Amino acid sequence: MSILVVGSVAFDTLETPHGKRERVQGGAAFHFAMAASFFTDVRVVGVVGEDFLPEHEETLKKRGVDTTGIEHAEGKSFHWAGSYMKSLSEAETLATDLNVFGSFAPKIPASYLDSDYLFLANIDPVLQLQVRKQMPDVKLVAGDTMNYWIADHRANLEKVLAELDVLLINDGEARMLAGENNLLKAARKVMEMGPKSLVVKHGEYGATAFFCDRSFTGVSHITLPFRAPAMPLDEVVDPTGAGDCFAGGFYGYIASQPELTPAVFRKALFYGGVMGSYAVESFGTERLHTLTRDDIEQRFRTLQEISHLELEA
Ligand code: AMP
Repeated sequence: MSILVVGSVAFDTLETPHGKRERVQGGAAFHFAMAASFFTDVRVVGVVGEDFLPEHEETLKKRGVDTTGIEHAEGKSFHWAGSYMKSLSEAETLATDLNVFGSFAPKIPASYLDSDYLFLANIDPVLQLQVRKQMPDVKLVAGDTMNYWIADHRANLEKVLAELDVLLINDGEARMLAGENNLLKAARKVMEMGPKSLVVKHGEYGATAFFCDRSFTGVSHITLPFRAPAMPLDEVVDPTGAGDCFAGGFYGYIASQPELTPAVFRKALFYGGVMGSYAVESFGTERLHTLTRDDIEQRFRTLQEISHLELEA
Protein backbone atom coordinates (compact mmCIF):
# COMPACT_ATOMS: atom_id res chain seq x y z
CA MET A 1 0.00 0.00 0.00
CA SER A 2 1.21 3.49 -0.68
CA ILE A 3 0.61 6.90 0.83
CA LEU A 4 0.65 10.09 -1.18
CA VAL A 5 1.55 13.06 1.01
CA VAL A 6 1.34 16.71 0.07
CA GLY A 7 2.74 19.38 2.36
CA SER A 8 5.66 21.64 3.05
CA VAL A 9 9.18 20.57 2.17
CA ALA A 10 11.29 23.13 3.92
CA PHE A 11 14.39 24.41 5.59
CA ASP A 12 13.93 25.21 9.26
CA THR A 13 15.89 27.51 11.53
CA LEU A 14 15.47 26.20 15.04
CA GLU A 15 16.23 27.42 18.50
CA THR A 16 15.78 25.15 21.52
CA PRO A 17 17.43 25.01 24.96
CA HIS A 18 19.84 22.50 23.32
CA GLY A 19 21.15 24.97 20.78
CA LYS A 20 20.47 26.70 17.50
CA ARG A 21 20.47 25.18 14.01
CA GLU A 22 20.26 27.06 10.73
CA ARG A 23 18.35 25.66 7.76
CA VAL A 24 17.98 22.01 8.69
CA GLN A 25 15.76 19.92 6.44
CA GLY A 26 12.18 20.09 7.58
CA GLY A 27 8.63 20.71 6.49
CA ALA A 28 5.50 18.82 7.37
CA ALA A 29 5.59 16.51 4.33
CA PHE A 30 9.30 15.84 4.84
CA HIS A 31 8.91 14.80 8.50
CA PHE A 32 5.78 12.80 7.71
CA ALA A 33 7.43 10.95 4.81
CA MET A 34 10.54 10.10 6.82
CA ALA A 35 8.45 8.58 9.63
CA ALA A 36 5.88 6.80 7.44
CA SER A 37 8.65 5.26 5.31
CA PHE A 38 9.34 2.76 8.13
CA PHE A 39 5.91 1.23 7.52
CA THR A 40 4.91 1.61 3.87
CA ASP A 41 5.68 3.20 0.46
CA VAL A 42 5.51 6.97 0.52
CA ARG A 43 5.22 9.43 -2.37
CA VAL A 44 5.67 13.15 -1.87
CA VAL A 45 4.02 16.07 -3.68
CA GLY A 46 5.54 19.45 -2.92
CA VAL A 47 7.80 22.15 -4.25
CA VAL A 48 11.35 23.17 -3.47
CA GLY A 49 13.62 25.96 -4.65
CA GLU A 50 17.13 26.14 -6.06
CA ASP A 51 18.60 25.78 -2.55
CA PHE A 52 17.26 22.22 -2.36
CA LEU A 53 20.22 20.18 -3.61
CA PRO A 54 20.53 16.52 -4.68
CA GLU A 55 21.93 15.73 -1.22
CA HIS A 56 18.69 16.99 0.34
CA GLU A 57 16.59 14.81 -1.96
CA GLU A 58 18.90 11.91 -1.09
CA THR A 59 17.76 12.08 2.57
CA LEU A 60 14.30 11.00 1.42
CA LYS A 61 15.52 8.57 -1.23
CA LYS A 62 17.69 6.74 1.30
CA ARG A 63 14.48 5.95 3.17
CA GLY A 64 12.92 4.68 -0.05
CA VAL A 65 10.61 7.69 -0.40
CA ASP A 66 9.46 8.44 -3.96
CA THR A 67 10.36 12.06 -4.75
CA THR A 68 9.07 12.20 -8.35
CA GLY A 69 6.33 14.60 -7.22
CA ILE A 70 8.69 17.17 -5.71
CA GLU A 71 8.76 20.01 -8.19
CA HIS A 72 11.91 22.11 -8.50
CA ALA A 73 11.05 25.77 -9.00
CA GLU A 74 12.99 28.97 -9.39
CA GLY A 75 13.49 30.78 -6.11
CA LYS A 76 13.95 29.67 -2.51
CA SER A 77 12.40 26.75 -0.65
CA PHE A 78 9.82 27.26 2.08
CA HIS A 79 11.58 28.44 5.23
CA TRP A 80 10.26 28.36 8.79
CA ALA A 81 11.99 29.73 11.85
CA GLY A 82 10.80 28.68 15.27
CA SER A 83 11.87 28.94 18.88
CA TYR A 84 11.19 26.70 21.85
CA MET A 85 13.04 28.86 24.35
CA LYS A 86 9.83 29.85 26.17
CA SER A 87 8.27 26.41 26.13
CA LEU A 88 9.22 23.01 24.72
CA SER A 89 5.53 22.22 24.25
CA GLU A 90 4.77 25.04 21.85
CA ALA A 91 6.79 26.56 19.04
CA GLU A 92 6.97 30.29 18.78
CA THR A 93 6.98 31.07 15.06
CA LEU A 94 9.63 33.66 14.24
CA ALA A 95 9.29 33.55 10.45
CA THR A 96 7.21 31.79 7.82
CA ASP A 97 8.61 32.38 4.34
CA LEU A 98 6.38 30.58 1.86
CA ASN A 99 8.76 31.37 -1.04
CA VAL A 100 8.14 28.82 -3.84
CA PHE A 101 4.97 27.61 -2.09
CA GLY A 102 3.43 31.04 -2.77
CA SER A 103 2.84 30.19 -6.44
CA PHE A 104 2.71 26.40 -6.31
CA ALA A 105 0.06 24.49 -8.28
CA PRO A 106 0.37 20.81 -7.33
CA LYS A 107 0.51 18.32 -10.18
CA ILE A 108 0.19 14.62 -9.41
CA PRO A 109 2.63 12.45 -11.40
CA ALA A 110 0.89 9.66 -13.35
CA SER A 111 2.82 7.10 -11.29
CA TYR A 112 1.17 8.42 -8.09
CA LEU A 113 -2.43 8.09 -9.28
CA ASP A 114 -2.86 4.57 -7.89
CA SER A 115 -1.96 5.66 -4.32
CA ASP A 116 -4.31 4.09 -1.78
CA TYR A 117 -3.95 6.57 1.05
CA LEU A 118 -3.79 10.36 0.96
CA PHE A 119 -2.26 12.53 3.65
CA LEU A 120 -2.80 16.27 3.46
CA ALA A 121 0.08 17.46 5.64
CA ASN A 122 0.27 20.98 6.95
CA ILE A 123 0.28 23.54 4.13
CA ASP A 124 -2.11 26.09 2.62
CA PRO A 125 -5.56 24.46 2.61
CA VAL A 126 -6.02 25.60 -1.00
CA LEU A 127 -3.16 23.29 -2.01
CA GLN A 128 -4.50 20.46 0.17
CA LEU A 129 -7.83 20.77 -1.61
CA GLN A 130 -6.27 20.84 -5.08
CA VAL A 131 -4.52 17.56 -4.35
CA ARG A 132 -7.63 15.99 -2.83
CA LYS A 133 -9.58 16.82 -5.99
CA GLN A 134 -6.97 15.11 -8.14
CA MET A 135 -7.16 11.93 -6.04
CA PRO A 136 -10.89 11.13 -5.84
CA ASP A 137 -10.50 7.36 -5.52
CA VAL A 138 -8.23 6.96 -2.50
CA LYS A 139 -9.33 4.61 0.29
CA LEU A 140 -8.78 7.07 3.11
CA VAL A 141 -7.96 10.75 3.48
CA ALA A 142 -6.24 12.12 6.57
CA GLY A 143 -4.91 15.57 7.19
CA ASP A 144 -3.27 18.05 9.49
CA THR A 145 -3.22 21.82 9.85
CA MET A 146 -1.96 24.45 12.28
CA ASN A 147 -2.89 27.72 13.99
CA TYR A 148 -1.43 29.75 11.09
CA TRP A 149 -4.12 28.42 8.73
CA ILE A 150 -6.90 28.20 11.36
CA ALA A 151 -6.54 31.88 12.18
CA ASP A 152 -6.43 33.44 8.71
CA HIS A 153 -7.54 30.86 6.14
CA ARG A 154 -10.66 29.57 7.81
CA ALA A 155 -13.02 29.34 4.82
CA ASN A 156 -10.57 27.29 2.77
CA LEU A 157 -9.68 25.12 5.73
CA GLU A 158 -13.36 24.26 6.27
CA LYS A 159 -13.52 22.93 2.71
CA VAL A 160 -10.60 20.61 3.49
CA LEU A 161 -12.14 19.46 6.79
CA ALA A 162 -15.27 18.38 4.93
CA GLU A 163 -13.12 15.94 2.92
CA LEU A 164 -11.34 14.20 5.78
CA ASP A 165 -11.73 10.74 7.25
CA VAL A 166 -9.15 11.55 9.94
CA LEU A 167 -7.99 14.94 11.18
CA LEU A 168 -4.84 15.05 13.31
CA ILE A 169 -4.24 18.27 15.23
CA ASN A 170 -2.84 19.23 18.61
CA ASP A 171 -5.12 20.11 21.50
CA GLY A 172 -4.51 23.86 21.32
CA GLU A 173 -5.44 23.82 17.64
CA ALA A 174 -8.57 21.73 18.31
CA ARG A 175 -9.73 24.27 20.90
CA MET A 176 -8.91 27.16 18.58
CA LEU A 177 -10.71 25.59 15.64
CA ALA A 178 -13.82 24.87 17.73
CA GLY A 179 -13.73 28.08 19.77
CA GLU A 180 -14.30 25.83 22.77
CA ASN A 181 -12.07 25.04 25.74
CA ASN A 182 -13.52 21.71 26.84
CA LEU A 183 -11.77 19.02 24.81
CA LEU A 184 -14.77 16.73 24.40
CA LYS A 185 -17.02 19.57 23.29
CA ALA A 186 -14.29 20.89 21.02
CA ALA A 187 -13.88 17.44 19.46
CA ARG A 188 -17.60 17.24 18.77
CA LYS A 189 -17.62 20.67 17.15
CA VAL A 190 -14.59 19.87 15.02
CA MET A 191 -16.14 16.64 13.79
CA GLU A 192 -19.32 18.50 12.93
CA MET A 193 -17.14 20.36 10.43
CA GLY A 194 -16.61 17.11 8.53
CA PRO A 195 -13.83 14.81 9.76
CA LYS A 196 -15.19 11.35 10.55
CA SER A 197 -12.58 10.86 13.23
CA LEU A 198 -10.22 13.08 15.09
CA VAL A 199 -6.81 12.48 16.64
CA VAL A 200 -5.91 15.16 19.15
CA LYS A 201 -2.22 15.23 20.06
CA HIS A 202 -1.23 16.30 23.56
CA GLY A 203 2.54 16.50 23.05
CA GLU A 204 4.33 14.81 25.94
CA TYR A 205 0.98 13.57 27.33
CA GLY A 206 -0.03 11.36 24.41
CA ALA A 207 -2.97 11.51 22.05
CA THR A 208 -6.72 11.01 22.11
CA ALA A 209 -8.83 9.62 19.28
CA PHE A 210 -12.49 10.49 18.78
CA PHE A 211 -14.70 8.57 16.37
CA CYS A 212 -17.98 9.15 14.67
CA ASP A 213 -17.62 6.95 11.63
CA ARG A 214 -20.05 4.11 11.07
CA SER A 215 -17.59 2.28 8.84
CA PHE A 216 -15.03 1.47 11.50
CA THR A 217 -16.75 1.92 14.86
CA GLY A 218 -20.35 1.02 14.15
CA VAL A 219 -21.64 4.31 15.55
CA SER A 220 -22.65 7.55 13.94
CA HIS A 221 -21.77 9.88 16.82
CA ILE A 222 -18.89 10.33 19.20
CA THR A 223 -18.30 7.30 21.38
CA LEU A 224 -15.94 7.17 24.34
CA PRO A 225 -12.59 8.38 23.12
CA PHE A 226 -9.43 6.29 23.18
CA ARG A 227 -6.26 7.66 24.74
CA ALA A 228 -2.71 6.52 24.05
CA PRO A 229 0.29 7.54 26.14
CA ALA A 230 3.46 9.27 24.99
CA MET A 231 6.88 7.90 25.77
CA PRO A 232 8.40 9.59 28.83
CA LEU A 233 11.83 10.84 27.73
CA ASP A 234 14.92 11.99 29.61
CA GLU A 235 15.57 14.74 27.17
CA VAL A 236 13.75 16.57 24.40
CA VAL A 237 16.30 18.11 22.04
CA ASP A 238 14.01 19.56 19.35
CA PRO A 239 10.23 19.12 19.27
CA THR A 240 9.97 20.24 15.60
CA GLY A 241 8.24 17.66 13.47
CA ALA A 242 6.97 15.59 16.40
CA GLY A 243 3.40 16.03 15.21
CA ASP A 244 4.26 15.15 11.62
CA CYS A 245 6.28 12.11 12.67
CA PHE A 246 3.39 11.09 14.91
CA ALA A 247 1.13 11.34 11.85
CA GLY A 248 3.67 9.39 9.75
CA GLY A 249 3.80 6.54 12.26
CA PHE A 250 0.03 6.56 12.74
CA TYR A 251 -0.91 6.65 9.06
CA GLY A 252 2.03 4.53 7.90
CA TYR A 253 0.94 1.75 10.22
CA ILE A 254 -2.68 2.02 9.04
CA ALA A 255 -1.55 1.81 5.40
CA SER A 256 0.52 -1.29 6.18
CA GLN A 257 -2.52 -3.17 7.44
CA PRO A 258 -5.04 -5.02 5.24
CA GLU A 259 -8.04 -3.35 6.85
CA LEU A 260 -8.79 -0.39 9.09
CA THR A 261 -10.42 -1.85 12.19
CA PRO A 262 -10.83 -0.17 15.60
CA ALA A 263 -7.89 -2.29 16.86
CA VAL A 264 -5.68 -1.11 13.99
CA PHE A 265 -6.66 2.50 14.68
CA ARG A 266 -5.68 2.09 18.34
CA LYS A 267 -2.36 0.43 17.56
CA ALA A 268 -1.70 3.18 15.02
CA LEU A 269 -1.97 5.75 17.81
CA PHE A 270 0.79 3.88 19.66
CA TYR A 271 3.01 3.78 16.56
CA GLY A 272 2.37 7.51 16.19
CA GLY A 273 3.58 8.00 19.75
CA VAL A 274 6.68 5.91 19.05
CA MET A 275 7.66 7.93 15.96
CA GLY A 276 6.91 11.26 17.64
CA SER A 277 9.14 10.31 20.56
CA TYR A 278 12.07 9.37 18.33
CA ALA A 279 11.63 12.59 16.33
CA VAL A 280 12.28 14.83 19.32
CA GLU A 281 15.51 13.11 20.37
CA SER A 282 17.59 15.17 17.95
CA PHE A 283 17.37 18.20 15.66
CA GLY A 284 15.34 17.79 12.46
CA THR A 285 14.96 14.14 11.47
CA GLU A 286 18.53 13.16 12.45
CA ARG A 287 17.42 10.42 14.83
CA LEU A 288 15.36 8.76 12.11
CA HIS A 289 18.43 8.33 9.91
CA THR A 290 19.79 5.56 12.15
CA LEU A 291 16.49 4.23 13.48
CA THR A 292 15.56 0.60 12.81
CA ARG A 293 12.26 -1.25 12.76
CA ASP A 294 13.50 -3.15 15.83
CA ASP A 295 13.90 0.14 17.74
CA ILE A 296 10.32 0.98 16.78
CA GLU A 297 8.96 -2.36 17.98
CA GLN A 298 10.91 -2.14 21.22
CA ARG A 299 9.49 1.27 22.07
CA PHE A 300 6.02 0.11 21.01
CA ARG A 301 6.27 -2.67 23.62
CA THR A 302 7.41 -0.19 26.26
CA LEU A 303 4.42 2.04 25.53
CA GLN A 304 2.19 -1.00 25.75
CA GLU A 305 3.69 -1.95 29.12
CA ILE A 306 3.44 1.48 30.71
CA SER A 307 -0.23 1.73 29.83
CA HIS A 308 -1.33 -1.80 30.67
CA LEU A 309 -3.63 -2.41 33.61
CA GLU A 310 -3.74 -5.95 34.99
CA LEU A 311 -7.27 -6.53 36.26
CA GLU A 312 -6.39 -9.54 38.44
CA ALA A 313 -3.84 -8.56 41.07
P1 AMP B 1 5.31 20.09 13.79
O1 AMP B 1 6.40 20.44 14.75
O2 AMP B 1 5.10 18.63 13.64
O3 AMP B 1 4.04 20.82 14.04
O4 AMP B 1 5.80 20.58 12.32
C1 AMP B 1 6.85 21.44 12.12
C2 AMP B 1 7.12 21.57 10.64
O5 AMP B 1 6.06 22.31 10.02
C3 AMP B 1 8.40 22.35 10.38
O6 AMP B 1 9.35 21.49 9.77
C4 AMP B 1 8.00 23.51 9.46
O7 AMP B 1 8.81 23.61 8.32
C5 AMP B 1 6.58 23.20 9.06
N1 AMP B 1 5.73 24.40 9.10
C6 AMP B 1 5.76 25.42 9.99
N2 AMP B 1 4.83 26.36 9.68
C7 AMP B 1 4.20 25.92 8.57
C8 AMP B 1 3.12 26.43 7.75
N3 AMP B 1 2.52 27.60 8.01
N4 AMP B 1 2.73 25.70 6.69
C9 AMP B 1 3.34 24.52 6.42
N5 AMP B 1 4.33 24.00 7.13
C10 AMP B 1 4.78 24.67 8.19
